[in-house]
Amino acid sequence: MSQVKQTVLVTGGAGYIGSHAVLALQRAGYNPIVLDNLVYGHREIVEKILQVELIAGDTNDRALLDQLFATHQIAAVMHFAAYAYVGESVTAPDKYYRNNFTGTLTLLEAMQAASVKKFVFSSTCATYGVPHTIPIPEDHDQNPINPYGASKLMVERVLSDFDVAYDFKSVWFRYFNAAGADPGGLLGEDHNPETHLIPLVLLTALGRRESISIYGTDYPTPDGTCIRDYIHVSDLASAHVLGLQYLLEGGKSDVFNLGNGKGFSVTEVIETAKAITGKEIKAVKCDRRAGDPPALVGSSDKARKILGWCPEYSNLSDILSHAWQWHQQRHQ
Ligand code: UDP
Repeated sequence: MSQVKQTVLVTGGAGYIGSHAVLALQRAGYNPIVLDNLVYGHREIVEKILQVELIAGDTNDRALLDQLFATHQIAAVMHFAAYAYVGESVTAPDKYYRNNFTGTLTLLEAMQAASVKKFVFSSTCATYGVPHTIPIPEDHDQNPINPYGASKLMVERVLSDFDVAYDFKSVWFRYFNAAGADPGGLLGEDHNPETHLIPLVLLTALGRRESISIYGTDYPTPDGTCIRDYIHVSDLASAHVLGLQYLLEGGKSDVFNLGNGKGFSVTEVIETAKAITGKEIKAVKCDRRAGDPPALVGSSDKARKILGWCPEYSNLSDILSHAWQWHQQRHQ
């Protein structure tokens, strides 16, 4: 007799990381359903490519959430729905606190009311602020320097308090820089507006942009440009499935970094992209962007040890190749 698939609610499942998580859940034998307000997410990805149920709505809509939990038997929630533009969070902090913090609190309250108490949360390395140790361990101080990081840190605090008060179990992942695309070519990174380095570099290689701006060349790093730890989106997705399984098997609430433990500067990313695409990519030196720490590289030993996570595409060339494959197909 075949087993009934467990239903997992994926908020933000029409977005970049969330859609890859939906795919990973399907492949792992779960029944994902998606809640997405479609402000940045793509309806056709959920309905046509992933072919899962889409509830179009907002995490701030408590009545909708109550109805959703009443009409579906949900085993756990994976929560990706959030605004994630660091620069915009500095200029429009209210938008970030309302969506990322208040929206999540509303979701947690609805879960609590419906006795759904397993939660996998997308947090971020932006909660650390400017690190004093690299690679950054999970117990590093958290002093975010932008409202995006602050809004995520506030949720982490609520999750700890919900565990104590309500026996609510959660895993929160602090991602480093999500990049790449589904190696099978089904999904990729399609933000509008696009502000992230790798897609912008590839759009420049495709001739869709004149040049790529390098935000800051006077950072205290070897070549003066910011260093980031790029992690393949499919490896992030597989970590979420492992985190879910861990919670469903009775694991305690915990936090894990997700990165490759190796940093690349903006200049190195551009040079690697030139090699992979075989195209000239014009780069223009610009001022620093507000809210950017000089270097963010994470230690993910804990996720490897406790969850058994093992990133499959850990080198930058694979990440860029998969992203390039998807961008070429998307913009042909
Ligand atoms: N960056 C850049 N030019 C761009 C976009 C980003 O130089 O057009 C830099 C940015 O300052 C940061 C790194 O690339 O140091 C990664 O930025 P991204 O926006 O991709 O991710 P974030 O680190 O903000 O999550």
